Amino acid sequence: MTSTANREPSLSETDAEIHGIIKAEERRQFESVRMIASENYVSRAVLEATASVLTNKYSEGYAGKRYYQGQVNCDAVEVLACSRIQKLFGAEHVNVQPYSGSPANLAVYLAFCKPGDTVMGLGLPAGGHLTHGWNVSITGKYFKSVPYGVRPDTHRIDMDEVRKLALEHRPRLLFCGGTAYARTWDFPAFRAIADEIGAILVADIAHVSGLVAAGVHPSPVGIADVVTSTTHKTLRGPRGGMILCKATHAKDIDRAVFPGLQGGPHNHTTAALAVAAKEASTPAFKEYAANIVVNAKALGDALLERGFALITGGTDNHLLLVDMTPKGVAGKPYAQALERAGIVCNYNSIPFDPRKPFDPSGIRLGTPAITSRAMGVTEMHAIAGFMERVVTNIANESELDRIRGDVRELCSAFPAPGILL
Ligand SMILES: *Cc1c(COP(=O)(O)O)cnc(C)c1O
Repeated sequence: MTSTANREPSLSETDAEIHGIIKAEERRQFESVRMIASENYVSRAVLEATASVLTNKYSEGYAGKRYYQGQVNCDAVEVLACSRIQKLFGAEHVNVQPYSGSPANLAVYLAFCKPGDTVMGLGLPAGGHLTHGWNVSITGKYFKSVPYGVRPDTHRIDMDEVRKLALEHRPRLLFCGGTAYARTWDFPAFRAIADEIGAILVADIAHVSGLVAAGVHPSPVGIADVVTSTTHKTLRGPRGGMILCKATHAKDIDRAVFPGLQGGPHNHTTAALAVAAKEASTPAFKEYAANIVVNAKALGDALLERGFALITGGTDNHLLLVDMTPKGVAGKPYAQALERAGIVCNYNSIPFDPRKPFDPSGIRLGTPAITSRAMGVTEMHAIAGFMERVVTNIANESELDRIRGDVRELCSAFPAPGILL
């Protein structure tokens, strides 16, 4: 093939600044224990597809019904991505075009609601997502939002409250799913409530879609009317979003995504999602997803042994919400000290948090990324040990730096997918 590519300067030659930053980020991702619950490491294959020439192509519309010529390859990519995702989740219909999780949810509002309609979702402070009607989000500004919460005694979703609020406010959309909820979602119970009031049930499985694909978390497919998800969290694909739905809603969903909300789909992302869906259909991925949960439980147990407090007392999935109050330190200074020690997580509100969202009582931990590096129960114990050392040395910078050295050594034994240093 004749090409100018081999005569073109590389990124390192044309833009040393950006190249240098990317290299530094590769090193940071390799040398730290990454426990932000929504993050992961994609495979080299997914990275390759993401960096492909498919980014050059416009293809507004859907396979076989596009507005521009030249779609032979983009149609093939999207058809393959849809069929693989459809098979993986057992869905009747799939739309892989949403740019990310938030636009996927927005498309659902557009498909079923008019501005001012009532919607219900788990409140942000209880672990819900902004796009489920929280007041600072467009979804809380353009729609009437009635958030539900968790029980004060168990910190679990209060299904009695969900039903009571639903009967009283009769929302058009009922969301289930969240970002900081460590327990299994009872999709049939939500279905029963939605049926009582004739609401559309939306399951947002952004965090757990990899666990759902692997059968490690119950699936809402076939129960919820619509299932939305990101593709880059436990599913370990490129940054993106998708919507699965019953065949009866297919037209409404597709029209809402395009032309309702978006222009051309990101074909390089679609290709990378197809690659990730193929990976997620393997026995190796099932084992990976099971190990995510095993590791989260092991890390939780090791933290409990060291006097940390866990919201709900533990976890069913990939994440832990830690209440730092008994340790006498707030979430934010602890997360900052952890970062100095090479352990990266986020500070997080806990249910009924007496502190402000910018300076809350908790941190959130997740095991998807470290499990992608094949870390196991032994490493979870080591990490809990590092975390305790950080608490007791929170103001001791030289000790935090020593812990960082130990963290780096631990990481050096576990290859990170997609990263060749
Ligand atoms: C992450 C997340 C989203 C939003 O995804 P973005 O890709 O960040 O827009 C939506 N819903 C839930 C439950 C999430 O966890």
